[in-house]
Amino acid sequence: MDARITVDLNLPEDRASPRPRRKSKRVWVGGTAIGDGAPVAVQSMCTTLTHDVDATIRQIEQLQEGGCEIARVAVPDKRAGEALKEVVRRSILPVVADIHFDYKLALMALDAKVHKLRLNPGNIHNKDGVREVVRRAKDQGTPIRIGVNHGSIGDRQPGDVRDEAQRMVDLALSEIKILEDLDFDDIVVSVKAFEVPVMIAAYRRLAKAVPYPLHLGVTEAGTALSGSIRSAAGMSVLLYEGIGDTIRVSLSEDPVVEVKAAFDLLKSLGLRDQGLTLVACPSCGRADIDLIPLAKVAEERLRALPTPMKVAVMGCEVNGPGEAKDADVGIAGGVGKGAIFRKGKIVGTYPEDKLMDALLAEIDKILIENGKEPYSQKAPKLSHAGQLTPGRSVPAGQRT
Ligand code: SF4
Repeated sequence: MDARITVDLNLPEDRASPRPRRKSKRVWVGGTAIGDGAPVAVQSMCTTLTHDVDATIRQIEQLQEGGCEIARVAVPDKRAGEALKEVVRRSILPVVADIHFDYKLALMALDAKVHKLRLNPGNIHNKDGVREVVRRAKDQGTPIRIGVNHGSIGDRQPGDVRDEAQRMVDLALSEIKILEDLDFDDIVVSVKAFEVPVMIAAYRRLAKAVPYPLHLGVTEAGTALSGSIRSAAGMSVLLYEGIGDTIRVSLSEDPVVEVKAAFDLLKSLGLRDQGLTLVACPSCGRADIDLIPLAKVAEERLRALPTPMKVAVMGCEVNGPGEAKDADVGIAGGVGKGAIFRKGKIVGTYPEDKLMDALLAEIDKILIENGKEPYSQKAPKLSHAGQLTPGRSVPAGQRT
Protein backbone atom coordinates (compact mmCIF):
# COMPACT_ATOMS: atom_id res chain seq x y z
CA MET A 1 0.00 0.00 0.00
CA ASP A 2 1.30 3.46 -0.86
CA ALA A 3 1.52 5.31 2.47
CA ARG A 4 2.61 8.65 1.03
CA ILE A 5 0.71 11.66 2.24
CA THR A 6 -0.84 13.51 -0.66
CA VAL A 7 -2.31 16.52 1.11
CA ASP A 8 -1.82 19.68 -0.96
CA LEU A 9 -0.05 22.07 1.41
CA ASN A 10 -0.28 24.85 -1.16
CA LEU A 11 3.36 25.73 -0.55
CA PRO A 12 5.21 28.11 -2.86
CA GLU A 13 7.85 26.64 -5.13
CA ASP A 14 10.58 25.10 -2.98
CA ARG A 15 13.79 27.10 -3.24
CA ALA A 16 16.91 27.56 -1.13
CA SER A 17 17.05 31.35 -1.36
CA PRO A 18 14.61 34.26 -1.14
CA ARG A 19 12.54 35.09 -4.21
CA PRO A 20 14.02 37.75 -6.49
CA ARG A 21 13.38 41.25 -5.17
CA ARG A 22 10.10 42.80 -6.20
CA LYS A 23 10.63 45.35 -8.95
CA SER A 24 10.13 48.96 -7.89
CA LYS A 25 11.18 52.49 -8.64
CA ARG A 26 14.53 53.53 -7.21
CA VAL A 27 14.70 56.30 -4.65
CA TRP A 28 17.94 57.92 -3.51
CA VAL A 29 18.33 59.03 0.09
CA GLY A 30 21.57 60.97 -0.11
CA GLY A 31 24.04 58.39 -1.45
CA THR A 32 21.94 55.38 -0.36
CA ALA A 33 19.73 53.71 -2.94
CA ILE A 34 16.38 52.19 -1.98
CA GLY A 35 14.54 49.82 -4.32
CA ASP A 36 15.09 48.52 -7.85
CA GLY A 37 17.46 45.76 -6.78
CA ALA A 38 19.60 47.83 -4.40
CA PRO A 39 20.68 45.96 -1.24
CA VAL A 40 17.99 46.19 1.45
CA ALA A 41 19.04 49.35 3.32
CA VAL A 42 19.20 49.42 7.11
CA GLN A 43 17.93 52.46 8.94
CA SER A 44 17.26 53.56 12.46
CA MET A 45 15.98 56.57 14.36
CA CYS A 46 17.84 58.73 16.86
CA THR A 47 16.57 58.77 20.43
CA THR A 48 18.28 62.08 21.14
CA LEU A 49 16.57 65.47 21.28
CA THR A 50 17.25 66.70 17.76
CA HIS A 51 18.03 70.22 18.97
CA ASP A 52 20.87 68.73 21.02
CA VAL A 53 23.04 68.63 17.93
CA ASP A 54 26.19 67.24 19.59
CA ALA A 55 24.30 64.31 21.12
CA THR A 56 22.44 63.66 17.86
CA ILE A 57 25.64 63.65 15.82
CA ARG A 58 27.33 61.37 18.37
CA GLN A 59 24.47 58.90 18.08
CA ILE A 60 24.48 59.07 14.27
CA GLU A 61 28.19 58.23 14.36
CA GLN A 62 27.51 55.24 16.63
CA LEU A 63 24.77 54.11 14.26
CA GLN A 64 27.11 54.41 11.30
CA GLU A 65 29.78 52.38 13.11
CA GLY A 66 27.13 49.69 13.64
CA GLY A 67 26.42 49.61 9.87
CA CYS A 68 23.34 51.86 9.74
CA GLU A 69 22.84 53.49 6.33
CA ILE A 70 20.11 56.07 6.97
CA ALA A 71 19.35 57.99 10.19
CA ARG A 72 15.95 59.49 10.99
CA VAL A 73 15.46 62.32 13.44
CA ALA A 74 12.25 63.64 14.96
CA VAL A 75 11.26 67.20 14.15
CA PRO A 76 8.54 67.93 16.70
CA ASP A 77 9.05 71.70 16.96
CA LYS A 78 10.78 74.79 15.65
CA ARG A 79 13.84 74.24 17.84
CA ALA A 80 14.41 70.85 16.20
CA GLY A 81 13.73 72.37 12.77
CA GLU A 82 16.34 75.05 13.37
CA ALA A 83 18.91 72.44 14.40
CA LEU A 84 18.50 70.45 11.18
CA LYS A 85 20.95 72.53 9.13
CA GLU A 86 23.73 71.76 11.59
CA VAL A 87 22.68 68.11 11.92
CA VAL A 88 22.70 67.63 8.13
CA ARG A 89 26.00 69.49 7.77
CA ARG A 90 27.75 67.31 10.37
CA SER A 91 25.99 63.98 9.78
CA ILE A 92 28.00 61.11 8.37
CA LEU A 93 24.71 59.43 7.28
CA PRO A 94 21.82 60.64 5.12
CA VAL A 95 19.25 62.31 7.37
CA VAL A 96 15.47 61.80 7.27
CA ALA A 97 13.29 64.44 8.94
CA ASP A 98 10.22 62.97 10.64
CA ILE A 99 7.39 65.50 10.54
CA HIS A 100 3.75 65.46 11.57
CA PHE A 101 1.01 68.01 10.87
CA ASP A 102 3.11 71.17 10.36
CA TYR A 103 4.11 72.04 6.80
CA LYS A 104 6.35 74.86 8.06
CA LEU A 105 8.59 72.31 9.78
CA ALA A 106 8.77 70.42 6.47
CA LEU A 107 9.88 73.62 4.74
CA MET A 108 12.55 74.14 7.42
CA ALA A 109 13.75 70.57 6.78
CA LEU A 110 13.93 71.29 3.06
CA ASP A 111 15.86 74.49 3.78
CA ALA A 112 18.28 72.33 5.77
CA LYS A 113 18.64 70.02 2.73
CA VAL A 114 17.60 66.86 4.58
CA HIS A 115 17.87 63.76 2.42
CA LYS A 116 14.29 62.55 2.87
CA LEU A 117 11.07 63.66 4.51
CA ARG A 118 8.78 61.33 6.40
CA LEU A 119 5.36 62.90 6.39
CA ASN A 120 1.76 62.14 5.54
CA PRO A 121 0.31 64.96 3.44
CA GLY A 122 -3.22 63.98 4.53
CA ASN A 123 -2.27 64.96 8.11
CA ILE A 124 -1.40 68.51 7.07
CA HIS A 125 -4.51 70.66 7.02
CA ASN A 126 -3.03 73.60 5.13
CA LYS A 127 -3.38 72.42 1.52
CA ASP A 128 -1.41 75.35 0.08
CA GLY A 129 1.33 74.37 2.54
CA VAL A 130 1.30 70.78 1.23
CA ARG A 131 1.60 72.05 -2.35
CA GLU A 132 4.56 74.23 -1.37
CA VAL A 133 6.33 71.36 0.42
CA VAL A 134 5.82 68.95 -2.49
CA ARG A 135 6.93 71.52 -5.10
CA ARG A 136 10.09 72.26 -3.10
CA ALA A 137 10.82 68.56 -2.47
CA LYS A 138 10.50 67.91 -6.19
CA ASP A 139 12.79 70.82 -7.12
CA GLN A 140 15.42 69.65 -4.63
CA GLY A 141 15.09 65.93 -5.46
CA THR A 142 14.10 65.10 -1.88
CA PRO A 143 12.05 61.90 -1.57
CA ILE A 144 9.07 61.57 0.76
CA ARG A 145 8.13 58.52 2.80
CA ILE A 146 4.48 58.06 3.48
CA GLY A 147 4.23 56.20 6.76
CA VAL A 148 0.87 54.71 7.72
CA ASN A 149 0.84 53.04 11.13
CA HIS A 150 -2.00 50.86 12.33
CA GLY A 151 -2.47 53.14 15.31
CA SER A 152 -3.11 56.11 13.07
CA ILE A 153 -5.95 54.79 10.88
CA GLY A 154 -8.68 55.91 13.24
CA ASP A 155 -11.76 54.13 14.55
CA ARG A 156 -13.73 51.91 12.23
CA GLN A 157 -16.86 53.61 10.88
CA PRO A 158 -20.20 51.78 11.02
CA GLY A 159 -20.65 49.66 7.90
CA ASP A 160 -16.92 49.54 7.06
CA VAL A 161 -16.30 45.86 6.35
CA ARG A 162 -12.64 46.15 5.34
CA ASP A 163 -10.10 44.32 7.45
CA GLU A 164 -7.40 46.23 9.34
CA ALA A 165 -4.73 45.57 6.72
CA GLN A 166 -6.96 46.93 3.95
CA ARG A 167 -7.80 50.04 5.96
CA MET A 168 -4.07 50.75 6.25
CA VAL A 169 -3.45 50.09 2.56
CA ASP A 170 -6.36 52.33 1.51
CA LEU A 171 -5.08 55.15 3.71
CA ALA A 172 -1.58 54.76 2.21
CA LEU A 173 -3.07 54.84 -1.30
CA SER A 174 -4.98 58.03 -0.53
CA GLU A 175 -1.78 59.66 0.80
CA ILE A 176 0.10 58.53 -2.31
CA LYS A 177 -2.63 59.99 -4.53
CA ILE A 178 -2.16 63.42 -2.94
CA LEU A 179 1.51 63.35 -3.97
CA GLU A 180 0.87 61.87 -7.43
CA ASP A 181 -1.79 64.53 -8.14
CA LEU A 182 0.96 67.08 -7.50
CA ASP A 183 3.10 65.24 -10.06
CA PHE A 184 5.41 63.81 -7.37
CA ASP A 185 6.58 60.20 -7.49
CA ASP A 186 9.84 60.12 -5.50
CA ILE A 187 8.02 58.07 -2.89
CA VAL A 188 8.74 55.36 -0.31
CA VAL A 189 5.82 53.80 1.59
CA SER A 190 5.35 51.94 4.86
CA VAL A 191 2.29 50.30 6.45
CA LYS A 192 3.47 49.21 9.88
CA ALA A 193 1.48 47.36 12.52
CA PHE A 194 2.26 45.64 15.80
CA GLU A 195 0.19 42.59 14.83
CA VAL A 196 2.41 40.61 12.52
CA PRO A 197 -0.32 38.96 10.37
CA VAL A 198 -1.90 42.39 9.78
CA MET A 199 1.43 43.91 8.82
CA ILE A 200 2.25 41.05 6.43
CA ALA A 201 -1.13 41.28 4.70
CA ALA A 202 -0.87 45.07 4.35
CA TYR A 203 2.59 44.99 2.79
CA ARG A 204 1.69 42.16 0.43
CA ARG A 205 -1.31 44.07 -0.88
CA LEU A 206 0.60 47.33 -1.12
CA ALA A 207 3.44 45.58 -2.97
CA LYS A 208 0.98 44.65 -5.72
CA ALA A 209 -0.74 48.02 -5.81
CA VAL A 210 2.12 50.53 -6.17
CA PRO A 211 5.46 50.75 -7.99
CA TYR A 212 7.26 52.42 -5.08
CA PRO A 213 9.93 50.96 -2.80
CA LEU A 214 8.67 49.74 0.58
CA HIS A 215 10.04 50.53 4.02
CA LEU A 216 9.31 47.55 6.29
CA GLY A 217 8.72 47.69 10.01
CA VAL A 218 6.74 46.28 12.91
CA THR A 219 5.68 49.16 15.13
CA GLU A 220 6.27 49.33 18.87
CA ALA A 221 7.78 45.86 18.63
CA GLY A 222 9.10 45.87 22.21
CA THR A 223 12.39 45.44 24.04
CA ALA A 224 15.53 43.89 22.57
CA LEU A 225 14.70 40.18 22.61
CA SER A 226 10.92 40.10 22.16
CA GLY A 227 10.97 43.08 19.79
CA SER A 228 13.66 41.58 17.59
CA ILE A 229 11.74 38.30 17.39
CA ARG A 230 8.46 40.06 16.57
CA SER A 231 10.15 42.22 13.94
CA ALA A 232 11.90 39.21 12.41
CA ALA A 233 8.65 37.22 12.41
CA GLY A 234 6.98 39.86 10.25
CA MET A 235 9.78 41.14 8.11
CA SER A 236 11.39 37.79 7.29
CA VAL A 237 8.19 36.50 5.67
CA LEU A 238 8.04 39.56 3.42
CA LEU A 239 11.76 39.75 2.69
CA TYR A 240 11.78 36.08 1.76
CA GLU A 241 9.00 36.82 -0.72
CA GLY A 242 11.10 39.58 -2.28
CA ILE A 243 9.10 42.38 -0.62
CA GLY A 244 10.88 45.19 1.22
CA ASP A 245 13.59 47.63 0.18
CA THR A 246 14.63 49.21 3.48
CA ILE A 247 13.99 48.10 7.05
CA ARG A 248 13.89 49.48 10.53
CA VAL A 249 13.71 47.21 13.55
CA SER A 250 11.90 49.38 16.15
CA LEU A 251 13.08 48.49 19.64
CA SER A 252 12.80 50.06 23.08
CA GLU A 253 16.59 49.99 23.18
CA ASP A 254 19.70 51.85 22.13
CA PRO A 255 19.16 52.30 18.36
CA VAL A 256 22.56 50.71 17.71
CA VAL A 257 20.90 47.45 18.86
CA GLU A 258 18.19 48.01 16.21
CA VAL A 259 20.87 48.13 13.55
CA LYS A 260 22.49 44.94 14.82
CA ALA A 261 19.12 43.18 14.85
CA ALA A 262 18.39 44.42 11.31
CA PHE A 263 21.65 43.07 9.97
CA ASP A 264 21.25 39.77 11.80
CA LEU A 265 17.85 39.43 10.15
CA LEU A 266 19.14 40.29 6.68
CA LYS A 267 22.19 38.04 7.08
CA SER A 268 19.99 35.15 8.22
CA LEU A 269 18.08 35.40 4.93
CA GLY A 270 21.25 35.74 2.87
CA LEU A 271 20.24 39.27 1.80
CA ARG A 272 23.23 41.13 3.22
CA ASP A 273 26.71 40.09 4.19
CA GLN A 274 28.42 42.22 6.78
CA GLY A 275 31.05 41.76 9.49
CA LEU A 276 30.71 38.94 11.99
CA THR A 277 28.35 36.03 11.53
CA LEU A 278 28.62 34.06 14.76
CA VAL A 279 27.95 30.33 14.72
CA ALA A 280 27.70 29.13 18.33
CA CYS A 281 26.44 25.86 19.74
CA PRO A 282 23.95 26.04 22.63
CA SER A 283 26.29 24.05 24.94
CA CYS A 284 25.26 20.82 26.66
CA GLY A 285 26.59 18.35 29.20
CA ARG A 286 29.31 17.37 26.74
CA ALA A 287 30.84 20.88 26.64
CA ASP A 288 34.40 20.99 27.94
CA ILE A 289 34.68 24.79 28.13
CA ASP A 290 32.45 27.53 29.52
CA LEU A 291 30.83 27.95 26.17
CA ILE A 292 28.13 30.54 26.80
CA PRO A 293 30.35 33.30 28.26
CA LEU A 294 33.00 32.49 25.65
CA ALA A 295 30.45 32.93 22.84
CA LYS A 296 29.41 36.28 24.35
CA VAL A 297 33.03 37.41 24.61
CA ALA A 298 33.61 36.40 20.98
CA GLU A 299 30.51 38.29 19.84
CA GLU A 300 31.55 41.40 21.73
CA ARG A 301 35.18 41.36 20.63
CA LEU A 302 34.40 40.58 16.99
CA ARG A 303 31.39 42.85 16.52
CA ALA A 304 33.47 45.50 14.71
CA LEU A 305 34.99 43.08 12.17
CA PRO A 306 35.23 45.11 8.97
CA THR A 307 34.85 42.21 6.52
CA PRO A 308 32.26 39.43 6.36
CA MET A 309 33.49 36.40 8.31
CA LYS A 310 31.75 33.34 9.76
CA VAL A 311 33.22 32.53 13.18
CA ALA A 312 32.22 29.48 15.24
CA VAL A 313 32.37 28.89 18.99
CA MET A 314 31.65 25.23 19.76
CA GLY A 315 31.69 23.46 23.12
CA CYS A 316 33.46 20.21 22.29
CA GLU A 317 35.94 18.73 19.87
CA VAL A 318 33.72 15.71 19.16
CA ASN A 319 31.07 17.64 17.29
CA GLY A 320 32.44 21.20 17.09
CA PRO A 321 34.71 21.39 14.03
CA GLY A 322 32.48 19.07 11.99
CA GLU A 323 29.22 20.86 12.81
CA ALA A 324 30.78 24.23 12.04
CA LYS A 325 32.81 23.23 8.99
CA ASP A 326 31.31 26.07 6.97
CA ALA A 327 32.82 28.61 9.38
CA ASP A 328 35.93 30.45 8.22
CA VAL A 329 37.46 30.01 11.65
CA GLY A 330 36.38 28.78 15.06
CA ILE A 331 37.02 27.44 18.54
CA ALA A 332 36.19 23.92 19.71
CA GLY A 333 36.46 23.23 23.44
CA GLY A 334 38.56 20.51 25.07
CA VAL A 335 38.99 19.96 28.83
CA GLY A 336 40.60 23.18 30.07
CA LYS A 337 41.85 23.90 26.57
CA GLY A 338 40.49 24.25 23.09
CA ALA A 339 41.29 23.91 19.42
CA ILE A 340 41.28 26.62 16.80
CA PHE A 341 40.01 25.35 13.47
CA ARG A 342 39.62 26.72 9.97
CA LYS A 343 36.91 25.32 7.68
CA GLY A 344 36.66 22.32 10.03
CA LYS A 345 40.44 21.59 10.17
CA ILE A 346 42.26 22.03 13.50
CA VAL A 347 45.20 24.43 13.22
CA GLY A 348 46.29 24.76 16.87
CA THR A 349 45.46 23.95 20.52
CA TYR A 350 45.58 26.48 23.40
CA PRO A 351 44.74 26.69 27.12
CA GLU A 352 41.16 27.95 27.72
CA ASP A 353 42.27 31.38 28.96
CA LYS A 354 44.30 31.96 25.77
CA LEU A 355 41.61 30.81 23.33
CA MET A 356 40.10 34.20 22.56
CA ASP A 357 43.50 35.72 21.83
CA ALA A 358 44.37 32.72 19.66
CA LEU A 359 41.10 33.17 17.74
CA LEU A 360 41.86 36.86 17.19
CA ALA A 361 45.39 35.99 16.00
CA GLU A 362 43.96 33.45 13.53
CA ILE A 363 41.47 36.03 12.27
CA ASP A 364 44.35 38.49 11.76
CA LYS A 365 46.13 35.82 9.70
CA ILE A 366 43.05 35.32 7.50
CA LEU A 367 42.69 39.07 6.99
CA ILE A 368 46.37 39.51 6.10
CA GLU A 369 46.22 36.54 3.70
CA ASN A 370 43.36 38.36 1.95
CA GLY A 371 45.25 41.64 1.75
CA LYS A 372 43.31 43.26 4.61
CA GLU A 373 44.37 45.12 7.74
CA PRO A 374 44.66 43.01 10.92
CA TYR A 375 41.81 43.52 13.40
CA SER A 376 42.88 42.35 16.87
CA GLN A 377 44.35 45.67 18.01
CA LYS A 378 41.06 47.48 17.19
CA ALA A 379 38.79 44.85 18.75
CA PRO A 380 36.42 46.20 21.46
CA LYS A 381 37.25 45.13 25.00
CA LEU A 382 35.18 42.47 26.74
CA SER A 383 32.83 42.37 29.70
CA HIS A 384 31.82 38.70 30.01
CA ALA A 385 35.23 37.28 30.90
CA GLY A 386 35.38 35.14 34.04
CA GLN A 387 31.68 34.20 33.94
CA LEU A 388 30.56 30.58 33.95
CA THR A 389 28.03 28.83 31.75
CA PRO A 390 24.66 29.00 33.57
CA GLY A 391 24.15 25.96 35.79
CA ARG A 392 27.86 25.23 36.19
CA SER A 393 29.58 25.80 39.50
CA VAL A 394 33.22 25.27 38.53
CA PRO A 395 35.14 26.29 35.42
CA ALA A 396 34.89 23.61 32.77
CA GLY A 397 38.64 22.91 32.91
CA GLN A 398 38.37 21.95 36.60
CA ARG A 399 35.47 19.55 36.33
CA THR A 400 35.89 16.17 37.97
S1 SF4 B 1 29.00 21.11 19.91
FE1 SF4 B 1 29.42 19.71 21.60
S2 SF4 B 1 29.02 20.96 23.44
FE2 SF4 B 1 28.07 22.04 21.74
S3 SF4 B 1 25.93 21.36 21.82
FE3 SF4 B 1 27.06 20.06 20.32
S4 SF4 B 1 27.70 18.29 21.53
FE4 SF4 B 1 27.14 19.86 23.01
